[in-house]
Amino acid sequence: MPVADTLAAVQARIQRACAISGRAPTAVRLVAVSKLHPAALVAEAAASGQTVFGENYVQELVDKAAQLTCPVEWHMIGHLQSNKVKYLPGIVSMIHTVDRLSLAQEIDRQWRTKLAAPCDILVQVNVSGESTKSGTTRAEALALVQAIAPLPNVRIRGLMTMPPFFDDPESARPYFKELRLLADQIRSAEIPGVEMTELSMGMSGDFEVAIEEGATLVRVGTAIFGER
Ligand SMILES: *Cc1c(COP(=O)(O)O)cnc(C)c1O
Repeated sequence: MPVADTLAAVQARIQRACAISGRAPTAVRLVAVSKLHPAALVAEAAASGQTVFGENYVQELVDKAAQLTCPVEWHMIGHLQSNKVKYLPGIVSMIHTVDRLSLAQEIDRQWRTKLAAPCDILVQVNVSGESTKSGTTRAEALALVQAIAPLPNVRIRGLMTMPPFFDDPESARPYFKELRLLADQIRSAEIPGVEMTELSMGMSGDFEVAIEEGATLVRVGTAIFGER
């Protein structure tokens, strides 16, 4: 199926999930996850009106961004090593995967030397506690946000999570709910400069449930671009 059609189908599902949960249709942004798919496919999606794309690997992201001639917005959604941060200023508009202070400090340093505007970031939380997943723990999330908040070139916009994989998307619901509650808790701490307005959660298999639980950014790859 052409990308224009799969995109329209995903957008329709997002709109339906917003309607079901009484949320405004503009409350959820689609991050089209293009990892391991060619730049030509990203260009095709961009031509159909998709503006935000998510990538997992720095080298692939940098290469793909260089190949695209149309203006798109890139989000880094993969695990990020501090020594790769230097390639990202001027290319990405948001980093979803900040899970430690040292990484935030490096983002702050790189954005300070290269750009005038701060970098929007999300703090990644490992809600399930699985040892294979990145992310700070639920217990340490508030302290991490407090530690990052004073960095002038980093702006915390919210939280991101990846629940365990389930065949039944309903099984992911408690993890999405948990992230929303954690964001509420951090917001109520009223930390200066911290917004907590974005919840990045939900992928191809479970984005509707994530939207019902408050997702503002859904990261969808396979349902748009096919199998990787
Ligand atoms: C690959 C990836 C996605 C997209 O997953 P799909 O199941 O293909 O929709 C979303 N988020 C992250 C962090 C990913 O690595």
